[in-house]
Amino acid sequence: MIRFSGHPSSILNYFIIFKFKIILFYILVHQIKKVVIYSYLTIKEMRKIAIVFVLGMILYGCGSTKALVAADKTPILVSIDLINVKEDKVMVSIDPGAFTADTVAFYIPKTVPGTYSIDDYGKYIEEFKAFDYDGKELVVSKADANTWNISNGKNLDKISYWVNDTYDSEGEQKEVVFSPAGTNIMAGNNFVLNLHGFVGYFDGLKEVPYTLNIAKPEALKATTSLKKKVIENGDKKMDAFSASRYFEVIDNPILYSKANNEIFQINDIEITLSVHSPNGVYTAASLKDRIEKMMGAQKAFLGNINGTEQYSILLYLSEMGESDANGFGALEHHTSTVVVLPEVMEKERLEQTMVDVVSHEFFHIVTPLNVHSKEVQYFDFNDPKMSQHLWMYEGTTEYFANLFQIQQGLIDDTEFYKRIIGKINNAKAYDDAMSFTIMSQNILKEPYKANYANVYEKGALINMVLDLQLREWSNGEKGVLWLMKELSKKYGEMTPFDDEELIDEIVAMTYPELSTFFDMYVIGDTPINYNDYLAKVGLNTAIVEQSTGYFLDLDNTPFIDVDPENDNAVFIRKGIELSSFFEKLGVQGGDIIKNINGTAINLEAMRPIIGQSFGWTSDTEVEMVIMRGEEEISLKGTAGTPMLKVEKIVPVEVATEAQAKLREAWMKG
Ligand SMILES: [Zn+2]
Repeated sequence: MIRFSGHPSSILNYFIIFKFKIILFYILVHQIKKVVIYSYLTIKEMRKIAIVFVLGMILYGCGSTKALVAADKTPILVSIDLINVKEDKVMVSIDPGAFTADTVAFYIPKTVPGTYSIDDYGKYIEEFKAFDYDGKELVVSKADANTWNISNGKNLDKISYWVNDTYDSEGEQKEVVFSPAGTNIMAGNNFVLNLHGFVGYFDGLKEVPYTLNIAKPEALKATTSLKKKVIENGDKKMDAFSASRYFEVIDNPILYSKANNEIFQINDIEITLSVHSPNGVYTAASLKDRIEKMMGAQKAFLGNINGTEQYSILLYLSEMGESDANGFGALEHHTSTVVVLPEVMEKERLEQTMVDVVSHEFFHIVTPLNVHSKEVQYFDFNDPKMSQHLWMYEGTTEYFANLFQIQQGLIDDTEFYKRIIGKINNAKAYDDAMSFTIMSQNILKEPYKANYANVYEKGALINMVLDLQLREWSNGEKGVLWLMKELSKKYGEMTPFDDEELIDEIVAMTYPELSTFFDMYVIGDTPINYNDYLAKVGLNTAIVEQSTGYFLDLDNTPFIDVDPENDNAVFIRKGIELSSFFEKLGVQGGDIIKNINGTAINLEAMRPIIGQSFGWTSDTEVEMVIMRGEEEISLKGTAGTPMLKVEKIVPVEVATEAQAKLREAWMKG
């Protein structure tokens, strides 16, 4: 998984810019939105009138023949009706074989692999009903948010329930489901079927095969890595999918949308890119080239490590409204990924984010999908036990997602160094003295949960220093990629390791001295001195001054932000390094800008001033009125040449031959 919200990476800065743009473009966009909502309601109204209770028909249709087959000997048949959507809800019915127990428990997952959070998908289930073979309702009691106990289990024929989607509920819930793991129901338009939100399992029947029959509107097409068959049900056609066990159901999300797919081949992998862009801003064709190039580079980096033949990228672009997805990032699966990003992103940023995000998710094929512990293999959806090795599942993955880009020439040295220093700085927001293994094992609860996002920062850096250490000891030959290849040979998709034994195993495969490394930095709570490791490849961190824009920094991230809670007031961002322009003028983080050179400042007025500032010279007189708390302050000065102190990774002046050789091995593969 990779998650941008609440995650102080440089990518978060993108969203500060988006927020700006979104509010600026709001007036333009909401005209379009009005039209969309209007036609959507019309469709909804029509659907309401046209609801057909097919449920009853299916219910009575199965009966006695099914009763002869024991539940553990017959596939579970799931029917999902995407045509007769009622009040934004979808009807699901599940037909298992015959039970012998008096009480049968049915579960919807509390959590799913890769999210590392408790989400209670059962919260979105309504009107749960169980029926006997005569179509009479059985007594059902709810044991907790995700568990239903059905009495008189021997007579249980099937169950049905309505599913509400998570995207609509994001604003209402305190703890929201991360959108790439969430669900969307938009009648006639699109459905994000993260199937753990729609399909549950009966106690003891997680290993039974599943058949999914999905009735869907004519205009929508399914994209998924599951094999699709079209079956006839009366005069209606349905999509049918089968999975060997419950895990396979939830490992294969399905995106139903108006067909917008591109299929391409990277060596022996067939990749499907599906794009849902509500306002038609992007198409799969418009995004294909960069993704194709990137995945080719990933394959070249990985070599023969990966065995998947099919990979689906399901990109959902969000309008970011109240009833749309607002958690940005992606979630990994064995043969697919769901990516959620704002549709308002400009192309270059969207493409670079897709490269970073999709490469991260695709590298999950290595870990945890191929190399993982028993906690992951025998994942308990309703009573999860967490593994100690997030430093690897997320850390190694995120490290590779950056390393392959420098090794394969997708980014240059400067960008690579910038990413490393970015992670070093972002990691400062978390507890540097928290054991990574203890954090990982307890990630569902505080104070560990609040440090989760550090797996993308320090987790990646742990892998970088491990890589540099291994490279040093092996004369440049062996690094973390080599290690992961060895581990995936030893273990693999169906062969988990013992959580307690992984580190000893790695030490045994490599160098005894590595044991101290793990004891200090991964199991232990000793902060890492990154310069010690960067020195091995002739690099160092240094503070340098660089010229910057007046209102935008070197990455075009504004020094200012808007506060929607305070009438969209424009303020100087807090907790960031300010340029010499602001410092000389006497501006501080948190100050609200009221007036610049006689122009009263609000969101609308700020944009042309940012534009004008590109024409300012060092002699331009600038007058600014700011509010600091209750106090109004007038500031005056010349614009000067804005400089910003930035911490950078720079090569040492004269690298030794050994340092140069090691750097080459590390960055060029
Ligand atoms: Zn991840």
